[in-house]
Amino acid sequence: MGVKMIRIYNTMTKSLEEFKPIKENQVSMYVCGPTVYNYIHIGNARPAIVFDTVRRYLEYRGYKVNYVSNFTDVDDKIIKRANEEGVSCEEIAHKYIKGYFEDTKKVNLKEEGMQRPKATDYIEEMQDLVKNLIEKGYAYESEGDVYFQVEKDKENYGCLSHQDIDNLRAGARVEVSNIKKSPLDFALWKKAKKGEPSWDSPWGKGRPGWHIECSAMSGKLLGKDFDIHGGGQDLIFPHHENEIAQSTCGSGGNYAKYWMHNGYINVDGEKMSKSLGNFFLLREVLEHYEGRVIRFFVLGAQYRKTIDFSDNELQQSKTGLERIDNAILRIKEKVKDGSVEGGEDLLSLKLDIEDAKKRFIAAMDEDFNTAQGIGVIFELIKKINKYSEIEKLSQEGIKNLGMADTFVTYIMEEVLGVLLKKNEDNLGNLTAELVEFLLELRKKARSEKNWALSDEIRDRLLKIGIKIKDGKDKTTWSL
Ligand SMILES: [Zn+2]
Repeated sequence: MGVKMIRIYNTMTKSLEEFKPIKENQVSMYVCGPTVYNYIHIGNARPAIVFDTVRRYLEYRGYKVNYVSNFTDVDDKIIKRANEEGVSCEEIAHKYIKGYFEDTKKVNLKEEGMQRPKATDYIEEMQDLVKNLIEKGYAYESEGDVYFQVEKDKENYGCLSHQDIDNLRAGARVEVSNIKKSPLDFALWKKAKKGEPSWDSPWGKGRPGWHIECSAMSGKLLGKDFDIHGGGQDLIFPHHENEIAQSTCGSGGNYAKYWMHNGYINVDGEKMSKSLGNFFLLREVLEHYEGRVIRFFVLGAQYRKTIDFSDNELQQSKTGLERIDNAILRIKEKVKDGSVEGGEDLLSLKLDIEDAKKRFIAAMDEDFNTAQGIGVIFELIKKINKYSEIEKLSQEGIKNLGMADTFVTYIMEEVLGVLLKKNEDNLGNLTAELVEFLLELRKKARSEKNWALSDEIRDRLLKIGIKIKDGKDKTTWSL
């Protein structure tokens, strides 16, 4: 598909860099997944949708993508939740992983060909990495805990969040602790407290710290050097900074080459977060809006920009998406109607499609600018609508309209992952509404003891294949 010139904003260098994967035409990508102690909220859904789109676009540009995103299924928050509900941590994790898949399926995440490791399946790898860090002198054991000694990685630590260690030390809370050598040191391994899930280790019974989980899983599944590491911008410090310290000191590799971070979702000008309590669960929003509308809403902004979440914004996304639906449905009708001799052949539409494709790729190549990419589609839709108004089309004209349908549908559904309404859906709804309407009329007839009319409606419906059944308080129907 021509020369690939994708540029990615790298948090590490604070600049747009030309994307050159380590292995030609292959991309390895790790994105921090959710800690499964609750259903995900819209703020958690954003990275899932954003990086799913990044993956889809890279595939569209001809790369083979090895995409890994984890579940953190052992963590303080899970333990707390399990204690509150009086069940095991495994039960909590199981419940919310299931919930995650139920919810994200509706925003059309592409699960096929991706890996979703659970932290608890990689305890051995985590312990190996901790052992390695102790041996190399980067970490120390203290009363059953193991800490990473940040001072030992002075040269590098802070490279992602652009802070130096002296500033960090000055800003750190003065902790009175005999366990840690410095307040900057972070836990790699935590000694088990009573009633917590734990694993045997050289340092006694305990469990991994959060940061080591991602280092161990990405190292195991993608190797010591991989292309893209993604996540929400709130993970830059300390989580990603600590991942870098652990992995580079442990493996001697460079860890991730490009660091991508998505922006926040705000509610009334404040970041949506669990701690502020201003969050909306994805499943709650799904009760009011289709998943495809939510996905379209999220992709309506470039991924690094802050998004304002409101009913009004979602409504606008819905209206916009329906404009695309309708344009495509109209084309399909036109194509079905067929061509007329001497009709127009829409050669300029063909050029419009080629131009839209070029501009869509240019927008997405520049740090995955979905907002601009969608803008290009809207401009094409405007033109398409004009063409669909033309009464008589030649065979060539029909062919070109069909091409517009194929192009828009492919970009929307396969590349952006936003499903369009199908003709059958509309007909399905229409049928349902008509039948309901007839049943209402029949009910009225029955209440007026007009049995003849009531029976006629029933019989006529049966004739066209709709069977109705009178229940105790409700009449139901089936095809
Ligand atoms: Zn992580």
